[in-house]
Amino acid sequence: MAINNNDQFATLAVHAGSHVDSHGSVIEPISLSTTFAQSAPAKPLGEYEYSRSSNPNRKNFEDAIAALEKGKYGLAFASGSATTAIILQSLPQGSHAISIGDVYGGTHRYFTKVANTHGVETDFTNNLLEDLPKLVKPQTKLVWIETPTNPTLQVTDIKLVSETIKSINKDILLVVDNTFLSPYLSNPLTLGADIVVHSATKYINGHSDVVMGVLALNDKVLFEKLQFLQNAVGAIPSPFDSWLAHRGLKTLHLRVKQASESALKIATFLENTTDKVIAVNYPGLKSHPQNAVVQKQHRNGLGGGMISFRIKGGAEAAAKFSSSTRLFTLAESLGGIESLLEVPAVMTHGGIPKESREASGVYDDLVRLSVGIEDVEDLLEDIKQALNAASA
Ligand SMILES: *Cc1c(COP(=O)(O)O)cnc(C)c1O
Repeated sequence: MAINNNDQFATLAVHAGSHVDSHGSVIEPISLSTTFAQSAPAKPLGEYEYSRSSNPNRKNFEDAIAALEKGKYGLAFASGSATTAIILQSLPQGSHAISIGDVYGGTHRYFTKVANTHGVETDFTNNLLEDLPKLVKPQTKLVWIETPTNPTLQVTDIKLVSETIKSINKDILLVVDNTFLSPYLSNPLTLGADIVVHSATKYINGHSDVVMGVLALNDKVLFEKLQFLQNAVGAIPSPFDSWLAHRGLKTLHLRVKQASESALKIATFLENTTDKVIAVNYPGLKSHPQNAVVQKQHRNGLGGGMISFRIKGGAEAAAKFSSSTRLFTLAESLGGIESLLEVPAVMTHGGIPKESREASGVYDDLVRLSVGIEDVEDLLEDIKQALNAASA
């Protein structure tokens, strides 16, 4: 089942990291063993010794992610947040980092409430490209971005950010959180990122039944540093979760393609429903402010499965809409086969003061949709009836 260098995404999704075992099992068994036999002291029979350090199911998943992200190495963790923690833990004391104002809330929390306790200071900006030259200091070690952002789906030109950083100091690492697009739509390592990270909880596992994180990269020295921390800190996923996430990954391309196609139809409908909708944020729309970047940065210019829109009628209409849907479940999280919706101002972004929330476009009337893989006609019908209910 050897994959080769010319294999394309869907082939890699199905075959990378998948091996036929000695029984001929087409799907690798779940290896629950915590420890592995040795033939003589310090001479393991195979490639594994102790399951925290590495185990077959986690290694298969890590290899698959590395292949799909076009990187040399992959490392999996107990959550997306643990992945973030390990990367920030790898920075020396006294380091400086730069990130975006609307970075994922948990990442912001780690920067400002945990990484600072070991002497890592972070600046946040809402205008990264313009501010980078001013913000970089001699001790700046890392820039952390997300594209598209959550929940307003602003898109950043990764290649341009990478070139700007490297022209100032080539040793500054660029980390891209690629959770919202998945490796099917974008491969940041090919655009100049040094590390790509995912909350595998979202599109990669894709079935809303595993919490996990993963990163991929090319640099061997950096890989060994992060692998050391993966083992030393021990925030690792179980073999069962690794197996489930790997199974989910095999259909990533089908799920993300369908979600993107449906999301474009839904976003177009919302954009045309001007009597009930104020504005729509969707990277796949021609009207999106960074659609030109989307066209070159995303596979086939696809916009992904995430949409946000401002409903007419304020917080009250947003609440009414989100409790009136039949198929869209009102819940946090995203990237699963089932459609979800949420109201960021009172749910995922409820902890941010109103003023700074609204400065980045998160108004009380903003609704976020995670479009699943149900029939789009049914999803559109559901949205229409909920819009009617909200405006009644
Ligand atoms: C969910 C999420 C995370 C955190 O991942 P967990 O698996 O929940 O710890 C990080 N970044 C983004 C963009 C996310 O959506």
